[in-house]
Amino acid sequence: MLEIRSICSFYGKIQALYDVSLKIEPGEIITLIGANGAGKTTTLMSICGIVPPRTGEIFFEGEPIHNLTPEKIVAKGIVQVPEGRLIFPRMTVLENLDMGAYLRNDKEEIKKDLEYVFDLFPILAERQDQLGGTLSGGEQQMLAISRALMARPKLLLLDEPSLGLAPLVIKQIFEIIQKINQAGTTIFLVEQNAHQALKIAHRGYVMENGRIVLADKAEALLTNEQVKKAYLGL
Ligand code: ATP
Repeated sequence: MLEIRSICSFYGKIQALYDVSLKIEPGEIITLIGANGAGKTTTLMSICGIVPPRTGEIFFEGEPIHNLTPEKIVAKGIVQVPEGRLIFPRMTVLENLDMGAYLRNDKEEIKKDLEYVFDLFPILAERQDQLGGTLSGGEQQMLAISRALMARPKLLLLDEPSLGLAPLVIKQIFEIIQKINQAGTTIFLVEQNAHQALKIAHRGYVMENGRIVLADKAEALLTNEQVKKAYLGL
């Protein structure tokens, strides 16, 4: 579904990614784990066209996307849930969800998707007229995921969905991510919470200093001595 071929990405003169390559097959949950500043967010930003790679290529469903604008990339079906949620705090829950469907005009289908997200997160249905900024951290994460789903993504990019949330809420969010995947959406999950991420992923990549240093099945990474020491605290 997605293939990144040896990309290098920069912020001005600072190089953040070095020859990063990875593949995501349809239907998979792929996780990218790594420490602070490893380059995980930059990888997502490069896929989305916000930090386009200076060299290398990115293909989505066989077509090059590394030269497209972020809007065109969203229209192709790649939607990001950014780190820190970035919901619209002064808009209601319902208005935030409407914004997710901004590029669509299939009203009946939008209505169905609204029912789908309210079914996934009943609390959002209860709070649909509440301002986004007054929701709890966990609810805001649910809203950010739901807003992305309203764009009906083929590939959903999640940047640290567990950041700053209580263990019980993290458990709930990870269960929902699996549910979304089982309903047919491919998922690319960037996480510092390596243990939880590897538990739900099919395959994983490990990033250090802007480079992919390991790639394997998630079960294999969970028992890999290097990963256990560096990322699982074992
Ligand atoms: P975290 O888990 O802390 O979010 P990360 O793995 O997502 O980290 P990135 O945010 O991709 O890492 O950062 C990779 C490198 O790029 C870091 O050295 C960071 O300082 C640098 N960087 C990120 N954003 C910018 C920016 N806007 N301007 C300059 N350098 C940046």
